[in-house]
Amino acid sequence: MKELRRYIRLVLEASQMSKLRVFDFDDTLAVSDSMVLVQHTDGASELLTPAEFNSYKPEPGDEFDFSQFEDVINPRAVVEVTQILTKILNAELKNPGDRKIAILTSRGQRAQSSIQGFLDELLGGASNIEIVTLGSSDPADKRDWIDQQIGSYGFQDVRFFDDSEGNVAAVLELKAKYPDIKIRAQNIKYAESY
Ligand SMILES: [Mg+2]
Repeated sequence: MKELRRYIRLVLEASQMSKLRVFDFDDTLAVSDSMVLVQHTDGASELLTPAEFNSYKPEPGDEFDFSQFEDVINPRAVVEVTQILTKILNAELKNPGDRKIAILTSRGQRAQSSIQGFLDELLGGASNIEIVTLGSSDPADKRDWIDQQIGSYGFQDVRFFDDSEGNVAAVLELKAKYPDIKIRAQNIKYAESY
């Protein structure tokens, strides 16, 4: 009986996903021409690339228009990062069920199908990648999503790829909460030529 229980536990453990792999979309997997429109209170406005927006210090009364992010405009794959994604997908093919792969973006729900289209084109169809649209550029929301995933699935090994230093720092805060879990977060620096 004891042996049987041990056996069942081993089977359950083996069938459990242990790894979580999370990619940001903009300026991590792809560079596109979508821009953030900032309206200042004095009536002036300016357009920011996602990278410029990441380091932008808002002025009082600024209003942000993210409507260009409902679509993926003229996307170019960031080769270095999509190669990492492909490696991870191949590893999953060899050991199915071992890992969850997700795109975690600050874009809203309306961008879902465009991102799916980008992935289909990049990977040639069916791939088991979850697309999560947070509709928020608050780094704490990326951290909290990963936190909740660890809570739900018991991941033991987490890797996060994002071009925003703020997002990377927020996710690394989880190391203090989960000292026994391997958590790595990589700040992606894509080349200007994209
Ligand atoms: Mg980004």
